[in-house]
Amino acid sequence: MKIHEYQAKEIFTRFHVPIPKGEVAETPHQARQIAESIGGSAWVVKAQIHAGGRGKGGGVKLAKSLDEVESLAKAILGMNLVTPQTGPEGRVVRKVLVGEASKIKQELYAAILFDRTISNPVLIASAAGGVDIEEVAARTPGKIIRTPIDIRFGLGGHAARRTAFALGLSGKTALKAAALLTALYETFVKTDATLVEVNPLVVTEDGDVLALDAKMTFDDNALFRHPEIAEYRDLHEEEELEIEASKHDLNYIKLDGNVGCMVNGAGLAMATMDIIKLAGGEPANFLDVGGGASVERVSAAFRILMSDPNVKAVLINIFGGIVRCDRVAGGVIQALEQVKVDVPVVVRLEGTNAAEGARMLEEAPIKFGVARGLAEAAEKVTAALK
Ligand code: GDP
Ligand code: MN
Repeated sequence: MKIHEYQAKEIFTRFHVPIPKGEVAETPHQARQIAESIGGSAWVVKAQIHAGGRGKGGGVKLAKSLDEVESLAKAILGMNLVTPQTGPEGRVVRKVLVGEASKIKQELYAAILFDRTISNPVLIASAAGGVDIEEVAARTPGKIIRTPIDIRFGLGGHAARRTAFALGLSGKTALKAAALLTALYETFVKTDATLVEVNPLVVTEDGDVLALDAKMTFDDNALFRHPEIAEYRDLHEEEELEIEASKHDLNYIKLDGNVGCMVNGAGLAMATMDIIKLAGGEPANFLDVGGGASVERVSAAFRILMSDPNVKAVLINIFGGIVRCDRVAGGVIQALEQVKVDVPVVVRLEGTNAAEGARMLEEAPIKFGVARGLAEAAEKVTAALK
């Protein structure tokens, strides 16, 4: 699960990661009041959407007066913000974070995530902050400092200080940065996060080290341990079809192709998408209906597939292990009596009672393309597109 910057900053505060003063607003008037209560003479108004690159898209602006805070908030709230991460359709801004403007001396980068090759978290830091870190990693990999963290011991003071020195910091600034990195690691571990990213992490002209931006994502399977974080979920930011799928316990990710896929098991779903591409098609989605493949779930899955206007053909690829193929075939036939599907459907069933399942499909009143193997299934469904 993703959350907004202002929410991540609320979490940061709980774990003593220093951030600039700020609060979230839903109206220009509120924005002005927040700026007034923060005080000072310069503020920053930041669009809150679940995507980065807001600065480049015009969603992060500095204000020199309370009037300007109000007018910037007015311009940003309700705008359709397009950034390099939102895709061309952009996102509607519903909230802005109003904060005190920091006087930036230096922009750094820090993130903690999992490194699956070492089965441990890793701290990624760079003195080249504030810009696309992927680009830094690709062009100047030497500027990325990787600090593997042993999950049993955490990020110790020594390792944190060494990273701070490697960033080119010294004296008190290095100690402040090291303390921030240790606090960032605590935040990551204690909240079951899968990513904590601070870009930029800034050194200010007053000598403070602050998380100017904050991004966090969480392990959905651990959210039950953090009801206060689960509360942060913002459905406006999620794909409608994916929300509908999560209600039915379906694992659905929308993609841009035209072949709808319905598969049981994540591995088989990946293989199915690969073979569709190999046959010259483009998968419209990833969809794992899970082990059950009951009529209810198959129906829900069809409804979701059919509400994507790009879907021009459907491939059902089910492995009947515990669930028998004849049951699945029965489920598919029944589901199609409930949901209107006006595109060709190709079905490949393999496993227990596969022959019986195929016979049922062939004899069904609805016309299915029945395939015996994976390759044949992919070829039939891509041919059906034409
Ligand atoms: P992002 O573009 O979505 O990653 O949003 P950020 O929060 O990272 O802001 C983008 C850029 O705006 C930062 O890299 C800074 O250069 C600038 N910025 C953000 N807040 C401040 C601030 O308080 N003072 C100054 N001077 N610049 C800021
Ligand atoms: Mn940023």
